[in-house]
Amino acid sequence: ALTAGIVGLPNVGKSTLFNAITKAGAEAANYPFATIDPNVGVVEVPDHRLKRLEELVSPKRTLPTTFEFTDIAGIVKGASKGEGLGNKFLANIRQVDAICHVVRCFEDDNIIHVEGKVDPISDIETINLELVLADLESVEKRYARVSKVARTKDKEAVAELAVLDKIKPVLEEGKSARSIEFNEDEEKIVRSLFLLTAKPVLYVANVSEDQVADTENDDLVNQVRKFAAEEKAEVNVICARIEEEIAELEDEEKELFLEELGIKESGLDQLIRSAYNLLGLGTYFTAGVQEVRAWTFKKGMKAPQAAGVIHSDFERGFIRAETIAYEDFDKYGSEQAAKEAGRMRSEGKEYVVNDGDVLLFRFNV
Ligand code: GDP
Repeated sequence: ALTAGIVGLPNVGKSTLFNAITKAGAEAANYPFATIDPNVGVVEVPDHRLKRLEELVSPKRTLPTTFEFTDIAGIVKGASKGEGLGNKFLANIRQVDAICHVVRCFEDDNIIHVEGKVDPISDIETINLELVLADLESVEKRYARVSKVARTKDKEAVAELAVLDKIKPVLEEGKSARSIEFNEDEEKIVRSLFLLTAKPVLYVANVSEDQVADTENDDLVNQVRKFAAEEKAEVNVICARIEEEIAELEDEEKELFLEELGIKESGLDQLIRSAYNLLGLGTYFTAGVQEVRAWTFKKGMKAPQAAGVIHSDFERGFIRAETIAYEDFDKYGSEQAAKEAGRMRSEGKEYVVNDGDVLLFRFNV
């Protein structure tokens, strides 16, 4: 499964956020794989469409789809030189598919800031610099090798060298590779380099209980927004401490609590959704009387691959997918009614699955 890694300087609220994630965690009985790694927190992906399908179908059970966060501990100044847990830190980041970078935006005199004062941009830069330096090292190594081959006019090497030429000066300026525009061919080469600073990132601005109701005009949060915009990255504002409390509440209590605080949706729910989007993930549904269930697929997947998310047999033996768009299911109220209205399609192997499709797979065993 795709996972987002939580990183940040010490004392910014990473553990608090990760606690919230594990407390909010998916029911272990439904997701037995979820309990294996203590550094992985599995959460259910909030989706109002699933609730609606449950109402319409009244199945025996309803299962949301899940998303994984990985807690990446270990700090960081000097990481690129292998100091402390540095190497392990970088290796762990290499394994995640996206980065949730937690930044401290809350003032609290009782909590020491490692750099002496609350300065989110300087914090971001401290971590990013370590990642940039690690990338610069890999790019330089690669450069030495590829430039030799490129002299023979080898096409692939020439193309890769051009990409390296684009990346190197940016890293040398201390900036992340994700700030560079690449075309599709270049993008492929970039992916093959496994750069840390090319991974999609989401900045998580951790604010205090007092700040959380109005973050529009918050100076520190706006600094993070400005920085992120330059990198084409997103920002999520969260109060980790509140999330830790919310995570222990039942749905109804949770809604009341959020209302009192003047927040529409919990920060964690927003974060899950953002991370999901960041990774290019979508949700499709299966809606039978036994079970209504949400499934995660990678946008762009064709029907057989998407079926493979449920079981590899479904992919191997794929014949067709009966498809109803969620909006139609919602509008007509049942599979039968949607079918009678001509809103059920029978799709083949080349069908690209849409977010919100309600699917029924036909397959040979
Ligand atoms: P980590 O080192 O990044 O994992 O940071 P922790 O999660 O351990 O948090 C460091 C300290 O900041 C703890 O005392 C937390 O209770 C506190 N803290 C974390 N999030 C918040 C927050 O949203 N508001 C306030 N006031 N304190 C927080």
